Amino acid sequence: MSAKVGDLNPSSRILLGPGPSMCHPRVLRAMATPLVGYMDPDFLSVMADIKTLLQYAFQTENTWTFAVPGTGTSAMEAAVANLVEPGEGVLACVNGFFGQRLAEMARRYGGQVDTLERPWGEVFDPDEIETALQARPAKVVTLVHAETSTGALQPEIGAIAEICHRHGALLVLDCVTSLGGLPLEVDNWGVDVAYSAAQKCLSAPPGLSPITISDRVREVLSQRASPPPTFYLDLTLIARYWSDQPAYHHTAPISTGYALREALRLVQEEGLEARFARHRVNAERLWLGLEAMDLPPFVPKDHRLPTLTTVRLPEGLDEAQVRRRLLQDYNIEIAGGFGPLAGKIWRIGLMGHSSQREFVTLLLAALGEILE
Ligand SMILES: *Cc1c(COP(=O)(O)O)cnc(C)c1O
Repeated sequence: MSAKVGDLNPSSRILLGPGPSMCHPRVLRAMATPLVGYMDPDFLSVMADIKTLLQYAFQTENTWTFAVPGTGTSAMEAAVANLVEPGEGVLACVNGFFGQRLAEMARRYGGQVDTLERPWGEVFDPDEIETALQARPAKVVTLVHAETSTGALQPEIGAIAEICHRHGALLVLDCVTSLGGLPLEVDNWGVDVAYSAAQKCLSAPPGLSPITISDRVREVLSQRASPPPTFYLDLTLIARYWSDQPAYHHTAPISTGYALREALRLVQEEGLEARFARHRVNAERLWLGLEAMDLPPFVPKDHRLPTLTTVRLPEGLDEAQVRRRLLQDYNIEIAGGFGPLAGKIWRIGLMGHSSQREFVTLLLAALGEILE
């Protein structure tokens, strides 16, 4: 016996959480395009477009620029699993949940992991990274550009990359909540591996994750003593599928690829500068509105993330109840805090297609009515 399952009918949410963000209608339509095979010349040309558009979004000329199957965590794992060999030194900079996840992955792949820690919401000074590398050399430094768990934006990536290279280390940068929403210059800054996800500031559905790998890292990977312990996320094999002589490695998520291509086309049409300015202006509108309601942003303005705002909550507020009402009565999703910030903050994302003036106004009005 099985009960009859009804039509699929999810609510039309306004997604203002830490991702997924909302998709542009063009992106949703792209997903309904007929399937072709993963080696069909038409799909290979979709892949070539994705690669070119990602090179623009990442501001890089790296040949190894593509999208790995899976969500942002798979791109993170690809970076760590390919670069960190057992016994090798890793300096993991941890000032939030995703920095911690990178440290945990590096440990699982056998790295000798040192963590450099900062309280959640703070950012690193390049000098302290240099001091840590002087004390104990590392092959890889892991760092989060935009820490979605705290709302902090790590500045001075170029200076940090320069320090890493001076000490013989490679910089792996988590750009999940920055790509397509904030200035990110992989080549100018000298980032060795940068990765992201489709469903944050690019506003495509989750399932494919952009990654870009420098020639320096390609050289290091070609000298591994043995292949990485992951087959699915072996960057050398994935790169072959994305090369001019493609070879089967996995079946690409075809529809998700169509969607990512369309989302990246929207990025290109808008232009990076205009897109960053839009994210900035809408975030500033949100900050002003929140301050007027005595809900101050958690992170100081000089390193506050425009794509994800964290809000310091008043003592005694039943914050989960407010979020429930936002969802039930207004169809708006925002998120609570993680770990040490659970119950203390809200996380409000204005990413990609979700970064719109009307949504900011609606959220502020809805919060006003609920908190009244
Ligand atoms: C969302 C996020 C991830 C993980 O991505 P998933 O798509 O959830 O796997 C990693 N790093 C940061 C900074 C994120 O915001």
